[in-house]
Amino acid sequence: MATSSFTHEQLLDRLAEVAVRTGVNITSGQQLVITAGLEAVPLIRRITEHAYKAGASLVTTLYHDDETTLARFIHGHEESFDTASTWLSNGMAEAFRNGAARMAITGGNPTLLKNQNPKRIARASKASAAASRPAMELITQFSINWNIVACATPEWAQQIFPDLSAEDALAALWKGIFQASRVDVADPVAAWAEHNRTLHARAAMLNEQRFDALHFTGPGTDLTVGLADGHLWTGGAEEAGNGVVCNPNIPTEEVFTTPHCARVEGTVSSTKPLFHQGSLIDGIQVRFEKGRIVEAHAEKGEDVLQRILESDEGARRIGEVALVPHSSPISQSGILYRNTLFDENAACHIALGQAYTSCMTDIEGLSEEELIARGANHSIIHIDWMIGSDKIDIDGLKDGARHPLMRAGEWVKD
Ligand code: ZN
Ligand code: ZN
Repeated sequence: MATSSFTHEQLLDRLAEVAVRTGVNITSGQQLVITAGLEAVPLIRRITEHAYKAGASLVTTLYHDDETTLARFIHGHEESFDTASTWLSNGMAEAFRNGAARMAITGGNPTLLKNQNPKRIARASKASAAASRPAMELITQFSINWNIVACATPEWAQQIFPDLSAEDALAALWKGIFQASRVDVADPVAAWAEHNRTLHARAAMLNEQRFDALHFTGPGTDLTVGLADGHLWTGGAEEAGNGVVCNPNIPTEEVFTTPHCARVEGTVSSTKPLFHQGSLIDGIQVRFEKGRIVEAHAEKGEDVLQRILESDEGARRIGEVALVPHSSPISQSGILYRNTLFDENAACHIALGQAYTSCMTDIEGLSEEELIARGANHSIIHIDWMIGSDKIDIDGLKDGARHPLMRAGEWVKD
């Protein structure tokens, strides 16, 4: 099934080079802190080589292991689930404040904890979220250059390709990762520069248009998404607070912005299943009134969907709208990765919950209430789900006029 003229080793090296040079874009003298599963060792060795070649002063990788994580849930005492390695999180925050860059390797078993006690999982993730807040804030506020890239693992591969042998499933997942990450070409770093130019041009066009709203139509969908006052479209490489231009996500195909959390009207149907903490939700249909979901159904996993919507007040409103053409490589692969890094780049999507204030202009010093008044939703969740396909048309609305933006899932050429 290999269509690539490159060997696995060459592709792994290209993925490492893209992660270092395009993804995190490590600068001379900068430290790099990486977290990764044990299966990622071959990838991490190459990332480390490229990072030192690019001038990194020190590369530190913190490894974790699915079996070890599971051992805690099986054998750990009750108090274990309220415990977190605060000392480690504080150390990472200190490294970032002192100029280090951050890289994370995703790809563990998506359903590792499916048979474990949900209350213990919730407690453990709450403890861990509290401990890592100082480090996470530097990432969510985009103060430093950072990047996520994927590594195929046997468990992940087997869940995506249950009908293939373990070996073929792993090879198929790697092939998907290499293609989606755009490293399966002669000069991947140059290809990424070109891809970034395309995403920047789309964001610039949308920022010039300053639409009041987007109108999505298609099977089961007639949705008007008002955009936040002072919304800003972004996509592709961006400059972090420390001045380094990086691509936080490899792959990325989206241009996205902040919708107005009180100006979303109509019905929308999901076009791909949503995997949330090991559960599948499929055939979602919701109706919005004044930005709030007033009716929600799903053919599968409706109970999980309802639980998500009960998370807090902001969980019934949206915090992101993103445009991705149907011709994107991830969409064309037809693979459902069960991993947001990939799946959200397969189609146009909206996200329930928290908005990105980095997608808004002139927000310096605004209070939470002022941000919400401008349209930025506030919630503890941010869950992307897919509403785009080759059957969806999108118009931009401005001053009562209608501008065709996408037809049958593709950008209208201007
Ligand atoms: Zn998105
Ligand atoms: Zn999102």
